[in-house]
Amino acid sequence: MKQITHWIDNKPFDGAVARWGDVYDPATGLVQAQVALATTDQVDTAVASAKAAWDTWKDASLSRRTAILFEFRDLIVRHKEDIARLLVSEHGKVFSDAMGEVQRGLEVVEFACGIPQLVKGEFNENVSTAVDTYSIRQPVGVVAGITPFNFPAMVPMWMYPIAIACGNTFILKPSEKDPSAANFCAELFARAGLPDGVLNVVHGDKVAVDRILRHPDIGAVSFVGSTPIARYVYETGTASGKRVAALGGAKNHMVVLPDADMDLAADAVVSAAYGSAGERCMAISVLVTVGDAADHLMPKVVDRLEKVKVAPGLEDGAEMGPLVTAQHRDRVVGYIDQGVAAGATLVADGRALSREQDGFFVGPTLFDHVTPDMAIYKDEIFGPVLSTVRVDTYEEAMRLIVDNPYANGVAIFTNDGGAARKFQNEVPVGMVGVNVPIPVPMAYHSFGGWKNSLFGDARMYGMEGVNFYTRMKVITARWPDPEHRGVNLGFPQMR
Ligand code: NAD
Repeated sequence: MKQITHWIDNKPFDGAVARWGDVYDPATGLVQAQVALATTDQVDTAVASAKAAWDTWKDASLSRRTAILFEFRDLIVRHKEDIARLLVSEHGKVFSDAMGEVQRGLEVVEFACGIPQLVKGEFNENVSTAVDTYSIRQPVGVVAGITPFNFPAMVPMWMYPIAIACGNTFILKPSEKDPSAANFCAELFARAGLPDGVLNVVHGDKVAVDRILRHPDIGAVSFVGSTPIARYVYETGTASGKRVAALGGAKNHMVVLPDADMDLAADAVVSAAYGSAGERCMAISVLVTVGDAADHLMPKVVDRLEKVKVAPGLEDGAEMGPLVTAQHRDRVVGYIDQGVAAGATLVADGRALSREQDGFFVGPTLFDHVTPDMAIYKDEIFGPVLSTVRVDTYEEAMRLIVDNPYANGVAIFTNDGGAARKFQNEVPVGMVGVNVPIPVPMAYHSFGGWKNSLFGDARMYGMEGVNFYTRMKVITARWPDPEHRGVNLGFPQMR
């Protein structure tokens, strides 16, 4: 059986591994590999290596850093399909979707290639006579990233390319459910010329995460995952004096006003609800129809949904693959059962597929006449289950979103510019789409939600990523000038 171990000092960890976890092929339901689950000592080994590497990496010139980043970018482009195949095999997403994931990660690497421009400080000459003040951005030191199963290549790339470009060294703890892409990309970075220890990958579970959160030599932690763990990571990491950005779960609403282009809205909601089998933090899981919009929209949604091809990710024409594990499939099926029991109308039932296949499949599932008290509305299901809530007015739609504890993404579909503008202005959500169902910002903006979808002040990538991975230092300098000689015990004032 294939064994996946940690990546430390630009090579596979060769120490003894006492605990292993199973890695499945979600399309067949079979175990295909085993992944090392780190002990506290193994995390310490990776951190010690990163700390030693930081001594020199922090002073690596900007030209050297960018040269390595450009080379890394080229290697990703050349190996895009290899990375995508790893994602299909361990996560289960279809190949075209996996290629899209690699592309979106690559765009962050390209952003990081511009690091000389991004870390420029500021300078004022003569803040006082012959005194200059300037600010510089310096790396934090050893920093860590803890990432979820649903984007095993892209979410780590939201973090380490920028952190490393800023002069930090990085410990990545990817999801233990689909660990291979992290090692493969770290190997590519090594081939690009990254010195030993600048990027170490430690695999594991809560044991590894807890050590990272309390390790005295780690200065900052980025986390992406579910809300309860994001809250825990934020509270534990900050209590240990670390800078923490922790992105959590989501329940994203798509509001359709009666004047919307219904074909556009139907295409959008089917793509956004069932793409990646709903295992996206920006997936649409609630469709809110206003007035008579549902009468026009629902037949078009059903028509499209029936044509979605559910199949293993490498099969020709596959549009939706399996869920990541049997446990997760059973949880999603449990929510469909609960929706039926609560009295929602089950328009399309994906449960049959879960019984017919050995892989972890659930078919596209659509509920209508869902009410906000139902578990299928309240909880993040993270599967191919779309709940439709019918409301009479725009105000009722807005009230649903305002009352929801999550606030990652949201979308409105309308042809009324005034309504769209009012919506973008008043909706309390971090990322807003206007006739765009999954408004994931490009690499040069920043990604993050509000409320229970983000703990901490910093969002991922873009300038907020650069700020998170650097500390500002402000220098006030005077070079000898005879006019300024003499003791002055007063508080410094500008002259
Ligand atoms: P998860 O919270 O179970 O796991 C995330 C990471 O935390 C993994 O590396 C895991 O090993 C670790 N972890 C799990 N349980 C832990 C514990 N008890 N203590 C310490 N560490 C623990 O999330 P997941 O199931 O891998 O990913 C799906 C979740 O991630 C969804 O809720 C989804 O919305 C969210 N997500 C959010 C975003 C975002 O940008 N907001 C992006 C992607 C995914």
